[in-house]
Amino acid sequence: MKTAQDHDHLSYSQINCFLTCSLRYKFQYVDKIPPAFTAVSLAFGVAIHEAAAAYYQTRLEGDELKPDQLWDVYRDCWQRAEKIKFFNGDSEKSLMDKAKNMLTVFHESRDPSITVLGVEEYFQLPLGGLPPFEGYIDLIEQAPDGTITLVDLKTAAKKLSDSNAQSSMQLTAYALGAETLGFDPAINMRLDVVTKTKSPEMLRYETTRTDEERNRFVKLVYGVWNAIEREAFFPREDWHCAQCPWTQNCREW
Ligand code: SF4
Repeated sequence: MKTAQDHDHLSYSQINCFLTCSLRYKFQYVDKIPPAFTAVSLAFGVAIHEAAAAYYQTRLEGDELKPDQLWDVYRDCWQRAEKIKFFNGDSEKSLMDKAKNMLTVFHESRDPSITVLGVEEYFQLPLGGLPPFEGYIDLIEQAPDGTITLVDLKTAAKKLSDSNAQSSMQLTAYALGAETLGFDPAINMRLDVVTKTKSPEMLRYETTRTDEERNRFVKLVYGVWNAIEREAFFPREDWHCAQCPWTQNCREW
């Protein structure tokens, strides 16, 4: 029988999932029950993210993908997603059109002056008594003046605010990861967001993390792990349930 202690690592996604609904966390990461479907928002976000990552990877290699090549990456990734379930009137065609617009805006907003230092850069944070905390930094870039910035690439249904970047747990995890990669943990960071609005926008939100903010995140990870070890799993019924692929398992709980 699988138990919560079988984890070989922890990640931001796991912590976020646990805080959203601990029972969903159990189904996904402890019982490892395959999801009944892939929510369309997930398939779409992953495909856009993969196209953006491919763009920066080619920049790292001294080349640069064109918009139609970004589109090809999106389509390939979309086709690999299994059992996509559509919500809110979305269709494959409407999302293809949206993706084209978003990737065009993404490409138009590129900054040719930056140097790409890393894409999907792996880090591992050793935390005593816990499985190692692992993550991937979407993008590490360097400005012509030498300033290095860690970037989290995202899609969002609407414009965010500066407070979203300030409170982003993923960026706090990046700051901790930066330290393990030899950077200053107070390094500049940025949330780059392409909106899924009718007229997509590329928005950039800058932020940093203090010692206190990083320590608070580590404390949170310990707290979550403590709850996982005690198998404190229970449903948290809210708007997330509408697109939860483990609804049937939840009913049978
Ligand atoms: S249906 Fe809702 S409460 Fe149940 S596991 Fe999914 S997110 Fe949690």
